[in-house]
Amino acid sequence: MTDSSGINSSGVQGQGSGAGTLDSSSQGAIAASKPSLSAPGPPNRKQRRHIVLTSHPSRSGLRGQPIDWGQADPVQRGAIVATVSDPSHRNAIGTHSGSYAVYRALAVANGGLCPDHRPDLTNTAPAIAIGPHPSWADPQKIVSLDPFGAGVGEVYQPLLAQGIDIRPTIAVTNAHIQMPELLDALRQGRLAADGAIVKPSGDLVVTKAAVEPVWYLPGVAQRLGVSEDDLRYALFEQTGGMFPELVTRPDLKVFLPPIGGITVYLVGDVAAITDPGRPVTVRVHDECNGSDVFGSDICTCRPYLVHGLEECIRTAQQGGAGVIVYFRKEGRALGEVTKFLVYNARKRQQGGDRADAYFARTECVAGVQDVRFQELMPDVLHWLGITRIDRFVSMSDMKYNAIVRSGIEIVERVPIPDDLVPPDARVEIEAKKAAGYYTDQGVPSEEDLIQIKGRNLTD
Ligand SMILES: [Zn+2]
Repeated sequence: MTDSSGINSSGVQGQGSGAGTLDSSSQGAIAASKPSLSAPGPPNRKQRRHIVLTSHPSRSGLRGQPIDWGQADPVQRGAIVATVSDPSHRNAIGTHSGSYAVYRALAVANGGLCPDHRPDLTNTAPAIAIGPHPSWADPQKIVSLDPFGAGVGEVYQPLLAQGIDIRPTIAVTNAHIQMPELLDALRQGRLAADGAIVKPSGDLVVTKAAVEPVWYLPGVAQRLGVSEDDLRYALFEQTGGMFPELVTRPDLKVFLPPIGGITVYLVGDVAAITDPGRPVTVRVHDECNGSDVFGSDICTCRPYLVHGLEECIRTAQQGGAGVIVYFRKEGRALGEVTKFLVYNARKRQQGGDRADAYFARTECVAGVQDVRFQELMPDVLHWLGITRIDRFVSMSDMKYNAIVRSGIEIVERVPIPDDLVPPDARVEIEAKKAAGYYTDQGVPSEEDLIQIKGRNLTD
């Protein structure tokens, strides 16, 4: 018998240990049986553990609690169990740590990590409390993260005590950050040390949160304007069939996708975020390793990120709060290989790198200009309880529209100051302005775009 996921699953129940074992002689016939939880350490080549396929619940005796997404009470909503230590408890597709789950697999494969390891969550609770906010109980407002993901160790203590392996998907801690641009801003008098938010040394005191993606598939489908079936099939096929449950388990509504997560940097008093009498500044930033970390001059990413931090500090020093949200969406979520291919195509095209052909080159290589789909981005703002942004440090019309559509008011948009744009990044920023990015200096014309050129590849 072959199921819809294409996996031969004949004779999966009640088989002896030999038939239930995946080994090199089984020719791909994977059988389900109870896992041998007592197996010490990783499987070796001679004695592999049995594999439990969770793609067909009636065959494998799964009893994971269903998730009632959008419930205000996390216990009624249900704990999200995406760990693999006991497949019978799972009620989600995918697993923790995003793409790093693959490295975890390598550590298990080479014997460095015991597959049954359970984390000791002692002293790992959030450094500050965030929420709960009314948005947490609104299934329309949050569909791509678990709002209760930071409080797992406390909220689900009774379930953890019963041996159910529930893991936090959000962690919140404190940090001091040191950036040369902020030290320059202090020296030049644009910023002042106040002793609490900015130390006399120039250290910036922040709270930061790491957030793993947890997708409620019906909500994600609705946000994207597609059917849940179409979403599930596309996710299944485009990951090379990595998650058969996407198509075989419509009862499982939650998916932890193998993608990068979000980091939130909070500056100032977190209580100001939800206080209507105090200002809030926000920058939503998508990862750009080339500029953010290595200072590449072809785009405005790091200068704009640091400008956003400066704006956050000023707002915090006025009694408000600043929020930087950093998404792992490298190269418009097309990845860095595609990004570098596009750089070459831009710089080698006839007439050189120019603003009028900026988006066309990306589309030629990737088939699309951008796959970031900002529709899911506002969820993290709703997790923080934001209902109004006084200063939005971004020129992106897609980000602005997604946030406003989600019910958050934006009072003012803050473009990048012109003197922070590196010369070679003119091509990008002017092309974006012409395409609808916010500017307070007038939109460049087609004629203007043709004149705006970047460096050659060999310069
Ligand atoms: Zn960039």
